[in-house]
Amino acid sequence: MATQPDYDVLIVGGGPVGLALALALRGSGFATALVEARAPQAVQADPRPIALSHGSRLILERLGAWQELAPATPIRRIHVSQRGGFGRVELDCAQAGLPALGYVVDYGQLAGSLAAVFDRDADCVRLSAGVAGIETEALAARAQLETVDGRVEAGARLLAVADGGTLQVAATRARDYGQAAVTARVTTGSPQQGIAYERFTPAGPLALLPFEEGYALVWTTTPEEARSLCDLSEAAFLERLQQVFGHRAGPFKGASTRACFPLALRVAQRSAPRTITLGNAAQMLHPVAGQGLNLGLRDAWELAGTLRDGERGEIGTPRQLQSYHARRRVDRGGGVWFTDTLVRLFSNDVAPLRFARGLGLAALGAVPPARDFVLRRMTFGTRG
Ligand SMILES: Cc1cc2nc3c(=O)[nH]c(=O)nc-3n(C[C@H](O)[C@H](O)[C@H](O)COP(=O)(O)OP(=O)(O)OC[C@H]3O[C@@H](n4cnc5c(N)ncnc54)[C@H](O)[C@@H]3O)c2cc1C
Repeated sequence: MATQPDYDVLIVGGGPVGLALALALRGSGFATALVEARAPQAVQADPRPIALSHGSRLILERLGAWQELAPATPIRRIHVSQRGGFGRVELDCAQAGLPALGYVVDYGQLAGSLAAVFDRDADCVRLSAGVAGIETEALAARAQLETVDGRVEAGARLLAVADGGTLQVAATRARDYGQAAVTARVTTGSPQQGIAYERFTPAGPLALLPFEEGYALVWTTTPEEARSLCDLSEAAFLERLQQVFGHRAGPFKGASTRACFPLALRVAQRSAPRTITLGNAAQMLHPVAGQGLNLGLRDAWELAGTLRDGERGEIGTPRQLQSYHARRRVDRGGGVWFTDTLVRLFSNDVAPLRFARGLGLAALGAVPPARDFVLRRMTFGTRG
């Protein structure tokens, strides 16, 4: 017997991407629900820094969430270099004709601002539950929800899965980078000047992002070194950071406690009928160049647009889902290629490659079309 759907769209996961989709569907008239396993405080306690692109700012403004954020720290210039090799490039917001190339927030702040708008004016039911599994039929999909009162089922014309990839509802292509990221807040003797530093080292890229008065650090390296960096005393950690990063930002003076994140590439290939993946469930990327969440926000925005373009009866049909995939193909593919190529090209110590990378970095600064391609990727992604 066919399931009578309870909802038109059931969003699995209330991280930034799931929340953005719920907000982008406001006023559509569709019956929507969002299911999230973690308490809001737990979601908002995530310490990872997020560089939001200018394009993401525009999406968040339309959703009403930008206005809720504490002033985000603007990135006015990006400085890219490689450890132990020549060649560097600087990208400036004036070259892009923008007030800032991007903005730094922390994940918790961003999730909190989206949740505040959701609580105030989303016309979407919030379900506190973990999704234990899903089943799909031709006309609807069902999710098994683990609630405090036991297991219940919810059916929908479309399950929009924004769970960060935990349920693995789609076949995926994966690559283990053999790297993990250590995050921390760090300070130097003087206030940051709006410059984001991306420094490539053989063990992985290290990003120092301007954040409030100081910096947010995303240091990728081998999983073993990442674990030991988290255990070092503050003084020993700062000494090691100074060694690896150099003195470009001045002497490091203070560091917060650190957090460690495993890294991998995971790209969803196809989903079951009546389901669609978005955000990290669709593509989990290396954090180099800060692409993942920016892509996820565009996924949410474009999916809402595709759904709004059709009638209720078309929600989740193969035709509609194909149309969404076609809309997202170029941008998603570009984000995966861009980050994967950067990591693979730079995370090694092969002398001829180091030399070629130096030439590439020098050329990037000197050849305007190459520079403009990177600026565009960093600020708006790629339009399909
Ligand atoms: C160190 C680091 C730095 C990064 N920096 C940047 C950056 O600068 N810029 C950028 O754009 N991206 C960055 N990223 C990537 C970014 O964090 C992710 O792309 C983003 O968090 C994806 O959001 P999401 O909502 O898809 O998934 P998530 O943030 O993973 O949220 C998923 C949500 O689903 C919920 N959930 C999971 N399973 C279930 C279930 N079974 N039932 C119910 N709920 C469930 C979870 O509790 C969670 O709240 C970084 C990542 C890392 C690790």
